[in-house]
Amino acid sequence: MKKLHFINGKWTGNELETIEVMNPATQERVGEVPKGGTDETRKAIDAAHDAFSEWSAKTVYERAALLDKLNDAILANQDELARLMTLEMGKPLAEAKGEAAYAASFIDWFAAEGKRMYGQTIPTHAANKRLQVWKQPVGVVAAITPWNFPLAMLTRKMGPALAAGCTVVIKPSRETPLTAIRFVELCEEVGFPAGVVNIVTGSSSQIGGELMANEKVRKVTFTGSTEVGKELMRQGADQVMRLSLELGGHAPIIVLDDADLEKAVNGAIASKFRNSGQTCICGNRIYVQEGIYDKFVDRFTEEVKKLRLGNGLEDNVDVGPLINEAGVEKVETHVKDAVAKGAEVTTGGAAASDLGTCYYQPTVLKNVDHSMIVMSEETFGPVAPIQKVTSDQEAVTLANSSPFGLAAYVFTESNSRGMQVIEKLHYGIVGWNDGAPSAAQAPFGGMKESGMGREGGQQGIEDFLETQYVSIGL
Ligand code: NAP
Repeated sequence: MKKLHFINGKWTGNELETIEVMNPATQERVGEVPKGGTDETRKAIDAAHDAFSEWSAKTVYERAALLDKLNDAILANQDELARLMTLEMGKPLAEAKGEAAYAASFIDWFAAEGKRMYGQTIPTHAANKRLQVWKQPVGVVAAITPWNFPLAMLTRKMGPALAAGCTVVIKPSRETPLTAIRFVELCEEVGFPAGVVNIVTGSSSQIGGELMANEKVRKVTFTGSTEVGKELMRQGADQVMRLSLELGGHAPIIVLDDADLEKAVNGAIASKFRNSGQTCICGNRIYVQEGIYDKFVDRFTEEVKKLRLGNGLEDNVDVGPLINEAGVEKVETHVKDAVAKGAEVTTGGAAASDLGTCYYQPTVLKNVDHSMIVMSEETFGPVAPIQKVTSDQEAVTLANSSPFGLAAYVFTESNSRGMQVIEKLHYGIVGWNDGAPSAAQAPFGGMKESGMGREGGQQGIEDFLETQYVSIGL
């Protein structure tokens, strides 16, 4: 399957070298895309810039009508999109179908939310003046997306950007460009005008360099690692680029001794093993209070042993491969380091090389502490380290001892303890007795080095709007 760039309503890039897209489950080639760079990016930006005045002048109702069609198109093609995601990044098919529905929900939500982009009338201080606040679309938006949620991370940006009246240049990850390109095909099919949605694949440094430096781009919305996010901040400084950054995480899961054991085990499994542990809000470290520690470790291990590892296209697979061999090496490093420092493996603990080169067994580690890398660096794999804590305060202190602040989870049946713990957590998202807190209508984003800005919810469209204050003399 060969796919091309989409620039100004035309599929181009046939003459360019290509990048191969591989299936991590089998190491087979799934497709190829053009290796674009600065020139293609500049053309895409020009197209988005030229399309902006007409697109932004449409009424929100006209834009919402197209977004509604796009939502329908994603849902109508849910199975195909899901299969493509499983092929290029490995997640189990059922999860991929869930992602397609989740991705559509952002388009649906923002089609409606666009109709509520209210300005303001401010009481005047002078009888001959009227003061108003208008909301304006920021302009051309660049959307840089990661491989772990190839569709949902895209629609979480495209929904609000398009609803607000912005035009977009997409740069997907080289690991998962096919899903993004299929999404753009759907945009074309439902009738978005030429230049409103563009996509360029290829060299991240060249494409990123042009997106950050080109003065026609007014906003960059990025989801990916904290390292690259910081680099983009540096690159954007010269033109004071408006940025939204959804970056890495290292989510703590706190289980207090009055937690409902089954809720805590199921919630921790949902958070930890979804997408093979490759989500930014994955529980990366579990703190369990001493009164429930042994029981939790036993029940959790029992459930993790039931998870079936395999090719995501097969039936009943719970955990798929990691994205690539480097991903497996990182997980191996974390586990070996923990074991060398005294952690005990209760299940898993090794790569599953009998299945392929990208598989790692679902793993539970007990008796861990903060001297181990796994407790501070994002593992991005199916490894659950469990540390014993004595008090609520110790759990909070350890949870906050991280530069990241994206998601945290708390399991307790006590409202009073739950509220007091959550208020002290420096995390943008908290799941309280809930291992899967994301929803299109809720604000998603992190504190500290996990980023800036929020996606989803009422807040999600604000990042694509400028506030323009108008003082009117009568
Ligand atoms: P990544 O390596 O930072 O890549 C993210 C995107 O940035 C990809 O499209 C990548 O392209 C591109 N990129 C890489 N270097 C670039 C550069 N110098 N200039 C411009 N673009 C550049 O992250 P990833 O490995 O794809 O994703 C995993 C990370 O994303 C994890 O840290 C995870 O926590 C985070 N994440 C955060 C959220 C959130 O909402 N906070 C959600 C999902 C994931 P290439 O792949 O083509 O190099």
